[in-house]
Amino acid sequence: MKKQKFIRENFGISDGVLNLVDLSEKKLLVQFKRVEEIAEINQLRVMKAFSDNRGSASHFAATTGYGYDDIGRDMLDKGYAPIFGAEDARVRHNFISGTHTISRALYAVLRPSDILVSITGKPYDTLEEVIGISGEDGNGSLKDFGVRYMEIPLKSNGSPNLEEIKFTLTHTNVKAVTIQRSKGYGWRPTYSAKEIGELIEFVKELSPETICIVDNCYGEFVETEEPTAYGADLAAGSLIKNPGGGLAPTGGYIAGKKKYIELCAYRLTSVGIGKECGASLGFNRQMYQGLFLAPHVVAQAIKSAALCAEVFENLGFEVSPEPNAIRHDIIQSVKFGDPEKVIAFCRGIQKGAPVDSFVMPEPWDMPGYQDQVIMAAGAFVQGASIELSADAPIKPPYIAYMQGGLTYESAKLGIMMAAENIMKL
Ligand SMILES: *Cc1c(COP(=O)(O)O)cnc(C)c1O
Repeated sequence: MKKQKFIRENFGISDGVLNLVDLSEKKLLVQFKRVEEIAEINQLRVMKAFSDNRGSASHFAATTGYGYDDIGRDMLDKGYAPIFGAEDARVRHNFISGTHTISRALYAVLRPSDILVSITGKPYDTLEEVIGISGEDGNGSLKDFGVRYMEIPLKSNGSPNLEEIKFTLTHTNVKAVTIQRSKGYGWRPTYSAKEIGELIEFVKELSPETICIVDNCYGEFVETEEPTAYGADLAAGSLIKNPGGGLAPTGGYIAGKKKYIELCAYRLTSVGIGKECGASLGFNRQMYQGLFLAPHVVAQAIKSAALCAEVFENLGFEVSPEPNAIRHDIIQSVKFGDPEKVIAFCRGIQKGAPVDSFVMPEPWDMPGYQDQVIMAAGAFVQGASIELSADAPIKPPYIAYMQGGLTYESAKLGIMMAAENIMKL
């Protein structure tokens, strides 16, 4: 077959790997069909938002300075809200990352002496310093401002500990809880939007005033509903992950209840100014086009994740989620149990990138993370993990987290290169 000959000759993939990948794809037909079905529903929701808001070229015009009356920016907020099943949203390139966006949501609603509780265990690494779990006194963390923090560890099966949550909510005046949808750098299931909705219902029954904030990173468009449609007061994420569709050059979004969204805008810009200012500088078109592409691109990433799971399970490694599992985020974990193998995997993924495919990733001390991390990424947008990427903290049990792939075809090449590397060890 011509294709196989090309891959063999130009990328050094052996027949063993080619056949394994071929067989793996055959076992994923039902999964792929399901993923395409979800993408279609999400695409239709995006199309409706565009048409309801009369999306047009005038929305792409750049504003400068204060950015008053930026209709493109305002329309994007209006379009995001119904897609997320939320009352309101703020979508801005001025949010510089997911961490920044989530931290704006936390600072927006928390006040000195308030209590914040993470009810899904340890939060994402970079949020530790924001909250004040780690980092120095006097740095302006939530703790520094007198916000108290409690954490309810997950049960051994990875689900939230309802008894402990109930105890805390009935004995303490909890201002806000955080729920992390995706597993992040953890070996636990990612929660579905519906499961998060049930958790929120549980919280609200015990403590109706408690604000439920969801770290929605990596979850957008993986299902047909978002946590905001299931009652989350706020959900936030990064535009260089799922909802930017690979085109947003930077940014973040927060969706949720109108009164809290206004506070988030105050925290992003200034109290009193909120959403009225913030020049879009010409980024609107990429944000709109990225949103338009996002349901499809996310589907590409999920298919790539499923292929990775099938291939590496066949090679004898434990994977999470299972190849045919219903997915709630775009992350695929593979447990290698060996530093050499995890490094070989990441180096293979790097070779499947369109940018910097010649680079050899090395473990390094990444700011905000406790352990050394190896990262494979060759992206058009620096650090964009909706583009094919893999990360692994260099610590037992040596788990690699792969995500992304703007196109299934290119991600498939990365997976083949990674499999080849592992088989050669
Ligand atoms: C990526 C991620 C973040 C932080 O986003 P950055 O853009 O890297 O700052 C937070 N939480 C989860 C679960 C994530 O996956």
